[in-house]
Amino acid sequence: MPKRIIYWFRNDLRLHDNEGFFKATQDAEEVIPVFVFDTRQFQQLDRLGFPKTGTFRAKFLLESVQNLQDNLRKKGGNLVIRTGKPEVVLSELAREYAAEAIYTSKEAAQEEADIETALSKKLKVDNVDFEVFWQSTLYHPRDLPFWVSRIPDTFTEFRKAVEKLTKIRPTFATPTVVRLPEGIEIGKIPEIYELILFSSLPVSDARGVLPFHGGETEGLRRLKNYFWDTDHLKVYKETRNGLLGEDYSSKFSAWLAYGCVSPRHIYEEVKRYEAQRGANESTYWLVFELLWRDYFRFITLKFGSRIFKVSGIQHNILQKWENNQERFQQWINGKTGVPFVDANMRELQLTGFMSNRGRQNVASFLAKDLHLNWTWGAAYFESQLVDYDVCSNWGNWNYVAGVGNDPRENRYFNIHTQATRYDEQGEYVKTWLPQLANVPAAKIHQVWNLSPAEQKTFGVQLGNDYPKAIVNGNKWLKR
Ligand SMILES: Cc1cc2nc3c(=O)[nH]c(=O)nc-3n(C[C@H](O)[C@H](O)[C@H](O)COP(=O)(O)OP(=O)(O)OC[C@H]3O[C@@H](n4cnc5c(N)ncnc54)[C@H](O)[C@@H]3O)c2cc1C
Repeated sequence: MPKRIIYWFRNDLRLHDNEGFFKATQDAEEVIPVFVFDTRQFQQLDRLGFPKTGTFRAKFLLESVQNLQDNLRKKGGNLVIRTGKPEVVLSELAREYAAEAIYTSKEAAQEEADIETALSKKLKVDNVDFEVFWQSTLYHPRDLPFWVSRIPDTFTEFRKAVEKLTKIRPTFATPTVVRLPEGIEIGKIPEIYELILFSSLPVSDARGVLPFHGGETEGLRRLKNYFWDTDHLKVYKETRNGLLGEDYSSKFSAWLAYGCVSPRHIYEEVKRYEAQRGANESTYWLVFELLWRDYFRFITLKFGSRIFKVSGIQHNILQKWENNQERFQQWINGKTGVPFVDANMRELQLTGFMSNRGRQNVASFLAKDLHLNWTWGAAYFESQLVDYDVCSNWGNWNYVAGVGNDPRENRYFNIHTQATRYDEQGEYVKTWLPQLANVPAAKIHQVWNLSPAEQKTFGVQLGNDYPKAIVNGNKWLKR
């Protein structure tokens, strides 16, 4: 039995169903849990003018790390905190504390995989073992009925095959005791301004769907609330396209992205709920959506860095995209003059969250109506979303931009149709664009057509209180 193992926490900030951490506590006499704030993740993207990680996500991460440290302390352990490049910091720690191995979770995307490779190289020369555990999906890639390189190009084909042929592995137990060696220097969780220069904690907006506090404890509380306390799971399929409030969908995404909650734990809770309160289409649908999450992870494994390129998974080098900063800023700031797009972009800017319906529409608008370089949109989401997940974000953007691997998924969103269907009364738009509060429901989703007299009556002057539309919105009315 090795005497000492370092467990490197990455996007698996939890103690329940954490195979790598569980095994570390079993395999070694002493375990040193470590989290490294990777400085590269917080750098400013000079070309685009925002940081790679924005303040909503940074706050959520800081809270998640704090909660993990608290939970480890309750088990007799602690969480060692460092800031720097993980591959350098961890190899030095292994030397300093004479660790015989480093265990960690395996990531799907290129940057993260490159760090694993660099760390593994450094450890080899010091004779330190390195073991990685895949633990971010419902289905384990080794259990899939096909090689990752042969994952079907359509989600439906993938889903049908795995639902029929693959079993979801059971969850791992939470370790009861963590034995930390004596004399370890713990370090300190940084302040947000030490990660993102000149930043401060974001102010919470009362209109936001949830306050989103990071950490395993809060994530499990949200699960209990959504499933057991309020029974919202029972009607998920009917409500999931909503736009306002905490109840229309699970809001699990941020906790899933940082691994505060395990998808297999959610699955087991769905099964327990079905056994106790009944199965229906809604209980199935939540697992169905988690399968989309799995799919984008496997697609990332299959296509590697192609998901980040403007030519996309399709390697479509013929399509031209515009790099127009002025239009991009109008999109970011919710100043396109298309209320449904602007309301969603304001929500994202002020809270770090946007519904799935909103994401599909604003992404389609950027790529298909403004013809802007879709990777800029994806990069802004990466910075701004509290629930940013590399595979789900870049994978979904590939699909909406029409450069994904499934040609049938190449859809165009008619923004007016979508707005009138999902925000019939204009309640959502009015929440985020209060200057349109007096515009009647029948006109709110085409304010660009308001006559000067109507503008006067409804107390909104186009070009002054609210922008004139930057596209011809009437193309959506000719269906
Ligand atoms: C352009 C675009 C970018 C996106 N970027 C992200 C991202 O960075 N991170 C992220 O977690 N999701 C992303 N999504 C997917 C989806 O919008 C969010 O997962 C969802 O809105 C989160 O809210 P929820 O947890 O209440 O979802 P629910 O409707 O309650 O769904 C439950 C869970 O299923 C998963 N899920 C649902 N829909 C999708 C989907 N289309 N793709 C992948 N997983 C899904 C999520 O983990 C979600 O938490 C993106 C979608 C689009 C169209």
